[in-house]
Amino acid sequence: MQYDILIIGAGVAGLYAALNIPTDKKVLIVNKTRPWECNTYYAQGGVTTARNDADIPSHIQDTLEAGAGLCNEAAVKVLSETSQEVIHDLIARGFRFDTAENGRLLYTKEAAHSADRILHAGGDATGRYIHHFLLQHNPHPMLANATVIDFLIEDGQICGVEVLYKGERKLIFANQVILASGGVGSLYRFHTNAYSISGDIQGICVEKGIALEHMEMMQFHPTVYLGNQGVRKQLLSEALRGEGAHIEDEDGYRFLFDYDSRGELAPRDIVSRALFDYRKRTKKQIYLSFREFDTDYFHRRFPNISANLRDMGYDVPKDRVPISPAFHYAIGGIKTDLDGHVGSVKGLYAIGEAASTGVHGANRLASNSLLEGLVFARRAAHAVLADSSNACHQSFTIGTEPLFLEEDKEKKEQLRRIMWQYVSIVRTTEGLHEALEQIDAMLNSPVGRLLKLRLLTAREIVQSALKRTESIGVHYREA
Ligand SMILES: Cc1cc2nc3c(=O)[nH]c(=O)nc-3n(C[C@H](O)[C@H](O)[C@H](O)COP(=O)(O)OP(=O)(O)OC[C@H]3O[C@@H](n4cnc5c(N)ncnc54)[C@H](O)[C@@H]3O)c2cc1C
Repeated sequence: MQYDILIIGAGVAGLYAALNIPTDKKVLIVNKTRPWECNTYYAQGGVTTARNDADIPSHIQDTLEAGAGLCNEAAVKVLSETSQEVIHDLIARGFRFDTAENGRLLYTKEAAHSADRILHAGGDATGRYIHHFLLQHNPHPMLANATVIDFLIEDGQICGVEVLYKGERKLIFANQVILASGGVGSLYRFHTNAYSISGDIQGICVEKGIALEHMEMMQFHPTVYLGNQGVRKQLLSEALRGEGAHIEDEDGYRFLFDYDSRGELAPRDIVSRALFDYRKRTKKQIYLSFREFDTDYFHRRFPNISANLRDMGYDVPKDRVPISPAFHYAIGGIKTDLDGHVGSVKGLYAIGEAASTGVHGANRLASNSLLEGLVFARRAAHAVLADSSNACHQSFTIGTEPLFLEEDKEKKEQLRRIMWQYVSIVRTTEGLHEALEQIDAMLNSPVGRLLKLRLLTAREIVQSALKRTESIGVHYREA
């Protein structure tokens, strides 16, 4: 199978890149499980856009401030300056954001934004609506249930990938490959991500010597309902706090103001740490309260969250819901330039949550990630079309390393516990060394390839966290 362009991942980044590549190119989109099992599908709150040209400097400023001095300013500028263009492109192609009755676009506000500039769709189902729309308009073939387990590289040029498809290993060749495989959620015990998101592509990068950057920067969401079964937890969108939901302890005390004068509207890392600290000190249960909301408005504005919580037995907005922080978003990723190019390998690109353009710095501003997926996917698509990488000549053989071993399942759970205990919201040197030791021990024991890739990514997160000794953004060192 020889393609012009191979896209790994069918979330917002992969699908919007595909939409920007004409059908005279032979393109294949590969994704790991079912096409909708991706973080894009679960995105609730919305997508940021500069409201107009006058709002661009303020959007840039908010993004840089959230990023705590670690953003690549050029990337942030590109993100904001291109935002209206990609949003208009989606609308021109027929996508409908939520509007008022007179057709005016409805903008909302989320934490650390200085203006109402978040567009949403389906109330609180923005990701699902965008994903469905992009799937419907996708002009290229897709191979689902195919997991990429290796890259084929010849003399510094990408030649294709090895996949696991229907239990068999196969080689797929391409002149250019775009990695749009998302973040690392499944490495953590509690997370909000799709189960297909486990950092295996980042693990292949480590193995091939392809640079990852800012891997210590992992974002935790403060308001997650932990009560449901399963590792993936129900997120309670930032937009709820933006529009008036309160965080309180079991006595109704709004303790967040003891930590930051912005209270519920402080950036999510500050809120996550405050929850973590308050719970540790007081042992009190923490709740999200919706009592300020009008009942009809709440059900209309947050139809999915409201239905999910009612399914779990809560009479919202009257009832408050117990919450905790959980892993949410990988800021760090595969280092790229502003066109998504992965410097060390010709023909290789990375976009979306898998990539690190430096746009989020040390902390991602709420709802900037769907926008990042759109903006950099389009730039990468244009760069790929101008890329002259040709087919490789070398012949490759299918790998022989075992993919799974019997003990992998328990080790995978162990890895999740390690990452949650030592490499989550508050980190210590001692804890990080403990994590490294345990991860190394697993890497030195017999493991299947799929677990090995997770371990390599986890190791990279721990090593980056150890290197950054100061607290900054989402990376918080207690000692
Ligand atoms: C619950 C939740 C709510 C969120 N809310 C918002 C929000 O309101 N606004 C916002 O801006 N952002 C939000 N985010 C973040 C945002 O949704 C993601 O950052 C973004 O959708 C990532 O898009 P992506 O295309 O990079 O990756 P994804 O959408 O995660 O897609 C990754 C794709 O890669 C495939 N893949 C992974 N590994 C492999 C492999 N080895 N082989 C083959 N395919 C592979 C997967 O199958 C999938 O198709 C939210 C995230 C979550 C989890």
